[in-house]
Amino acid sequence: KHCVKLVRAMDNEQSPLNLHFIPFLAPGHLIPLCNIATLFAERGHRVTVITTPSYAQILRKSSPSLLLHVVDFPAQEAGFPDGVQLMSAANDVESARKFYHASMLLRVPIIRFLEQHPPDCVVADFLCPWVHDVANNLRIPRLAFNGFSLFTVAAMETLRSNPELVSDAGPFVIPHFPHRITLCSRPPKGVTAFMERLLETETKSDGLIVNNFVELDGEEYIQYYEKGKTHKAWHLGPACLAAKVGEERGDKSVVSEEECVSWLNSKQAKSVVYVSFGSMCLFPDKQLLEMACGLEEAAHNFIWVVPEKKGKEDESEEEKAKWLPQGFEERNKEKGLIIRGWAPQLVILAHNAVGAFLTHCGWNSTLEAVTAGVPMLTWPVLGDQFYNERLVTEVRGVAVEVGAAEWRETGYGEREKLISRDCIEKGVRRLMDGGDEAEEIRRRAKEFSDKAKQALDDGGSSHNNLTALIAHLTHLRDTL
Ligand code: UDP
Repeated sequence: KHCVKLVRAMDNEQSPLNLHFIPFLAPGHLIPLCNIATLFAERGHRVTVITTPSYAQILRKSSPSLLLHVVDFPAQEAGFPDGVQLMSAANDVESARKFYHASMLLRVPIIRFLEQHPPDCVVADFLCPWVHDVANNLRIPRLAFNGFSLFTVAAMETLRSNPELVSDAGPFVIPHFPHRITLCSRPPKGVTAFMERLLETETKSDGLIVNNFVELDGEEYIQYYEKGKTHKAWHLGPACLAAKVGEERGDKSVVSEEECVSWLNSKQAKSVVYVSFGSMCLFPDKQLLEMACGLEEAAHNFIWVVPEKKGKEDESEEEKAKWLPQGFEERNKEKGLIIRGWAPQLVILAHNAVGAFLTHCGWNSTLEAVTAGVPMLTWPVLGDQFYNERLVTEVRGVAVEVGAAEWRETGYGEREKLISRDCIEKGVRRLMDGGDEAEEIRRRAKEFSDKAKQALDDGGSSHNNLTALIAHLTHLRDTL
């Protein structure tokens, strides 16, 4: 199938484009952008991903169509042990900040590479805003990527341009938006200011690559976003469909896929709740305890991913008792699977036994659930997650809320408010106990899953957008 695509691509376009991709070193950014890079490579273009040695090793196996340019990550300067090359290794604000600053040091070798091998276009994560000036100086077209849905980018921009209409206390409606969307509170100011600067630089790029499909964001948000801009949004997703299910991605799974699949095979269809909060969220023990109790009381099967961060490897019984009720594992040995570390998420979501996903609404997880047709119970924590929640609950109706309203600056540390075991139990039951509402949500989830897959098929919206984007970049190359 890939060969056919390649030959067809080469017939249609004169000569392949030479593209450089610069992903940011966090799983939520790296995974989708590398998948998008693969989409271009499968059309016969020369795609080089600039990344660190450990991720290059993963890509060599998972995406052989990509060329790689490897730059060393200065782990020690960031205060991490040698070998750490992903931001998900951070377990507090300070180490995350250090990681980010260390990642900025990669600027020097990357600029050198771009100068020596100027591509036809550079695609960079918005967390690398310095690429903008470099590309301008070298007169190379630049596409930006931020890993958000366009709905979310549009919401962020709206808040930025209407600060007087954003309430300082309590819920408020996003002004002038295509849908009437209420947010629980204003996003924290520090992070917002940082994000706004990045989004401003991004708007100056030649276009924005969006990991979503038009049908999920909605035409109305594309028009809303593009109004008054010269720059276009290119929906090319869902990126996860460019990944081969089962390939290594992000990090090394602590449990084999076979183990997960064989556990899931032993369960009935739609009987398992999958619980995971992505790569950057660490809940305090008290919150994990509520989660354990809520899951147990809901009495459905579950796979619960609990991040294994530093210090937990040789956990004592006493430490464990802080987050896991006495006898929990024994009582739930049939019903539950706890994964301490990285899980093969795509494999799990694709399994027919999974009936719901308790998620932090990271955009990748959200889109992966939509693609797999799995209804969500939403528990946003920070950043874009609150906007994503609105899109999949209020606007598209494929999810229900657990009731999270504390908008945090980071995924670490103590919370003012806990989500109680009652809310978790009720939320799980709402999706898993059957009934009209749950069935309607499941029906819509299936509908969007079908649309997601169609989007990447020949003639689908994302497929056509990729064709148009390639034509646009070819035109720029030939006329600049
Ligand atoms: N992921 C995974 N296994 C895990 C945790 C995360 O495969 O145990 C993947 C997940 O499928 C998604 C990405 O890591 O592609 C996380 O991105 P997301 O935007 O959902 O959340 P973030 O980690 O950025 O908060």
